[in-house]
Amino acid sequence: MNARKFLYIPSGLVPVDKLIKLTSRKILLPFYHTISDEPLPHVNHLYTIRNTKQFISDIDFFCSHFEPISLSELFEVVIRQKPLKKPVFHLTFDDGLKGVYSIIAPILEKKSIPATFFLNTQFIDNKELFYRYKIALIISCLECNYEKHNNKLPEIPGVIASNRSSLKQALLQLKYDDLIIIDSFSKNLGLDFDEYLRTEQPYLKSDEVNDLIHRGFTIGSHSVDHPHFKEISLNDQKAQVMNSFTFLMQKFNIETKYFSFPFSDEGVRIEFFDWLYDTENCRLSFGTSGLKDDFNKRHLHRIPVESNAGIAEKIIKSEYLYFVLKSFLNKNEIQRT
Ligand SMILES: [Zn+2]
Repeated sequence: MNARKFLYIPSGLVPVDKLIKLTSRKILLPFYHTISDEPLPHVNHLYTIRNTKQFISDIDFFCSHFEPISLSELFEVVIRQKPLKKPVFHLTFDDGLKGVYSIIAPILEKKSIPATFFLNTQFIDNKELFYRYKIALIISCLECNYEKHNNKLPEIPGVIASNRSSLKQALLQLKYDDLIIIDSFSKNLGLDFDEYLRTEQPYLKSDEVNDLIHRGFTIGSHSVDHPHFKEISLNDQKAQVMNSFTFLMQKFNIETKYFSFPFSDEGVRIEFFDWLYDTENCRLSFGTSGLKDDFNKRHLHRIPVESNAGIAEKIIKSEYLYFVLKSFLNKNEIQRT
């Protein structure tokens, strides 16, 4: 998203309706994780989240230029080429955090805005904590400990760092496969993730998911436990998708399949996508590359609104301007092999 930041100032000069017309991009897919009026320790250090007021201002902006549509309507538009009279938007939220139920759903219901929530099946009911959230909690814990231990850097097996900032960066680089390092180091620190899951309950519970379905929201898969797909084998990619869809069907009776890639779809091969649509019968899948096209029309890209603390209008307009600039270079389609 960095290049887009340079377009924030010029984006203020162009009305959004002009940008939509100029680019013919009539489908807007903003993407969030959660909304909270309190700091969330497990998300801190990873990305910024919006508070209720900012979120309402975002959606008022979306509604003033785009019409809200459901995910099945989006499918009709994308796959069955249902004509669009007006520009449309569909909201999606990844990771299945509890703010979806307590804050987001009530706000959206009041304004009659449909949305989709993509869940990691291993995290529903607070069974387990995403490894990146564990890292965020470790960083917060270290920051408190520096004071107590005269600024001494802790030794972490497999992590090389010479100062606080490089240690934080090194921790943020840890991967899905480094779970043993993450778990053993957290034990040394006295951090108890099970206790955190019990007391904070950061994720949705099964009865809340059922209630969201009953109230008309769409539920999709975000994999079993959120690995970076480019770091796992093709067989593991398929297992993450199959197992999560099976869980959603058995537990919540969800038969229509939608999938959003955990982290990103970067480096995911055409072979996987072909399997996803042809064998697994997934209707639509989602990445996070902004206003881009992909090789298959079933794969749609969303705009990560939380990647910047600015107002949605500026983020969306600079995304449109970025699209205009890239169209001169013919670089609005993602290349895959
Ligand atoms: Zn995610």
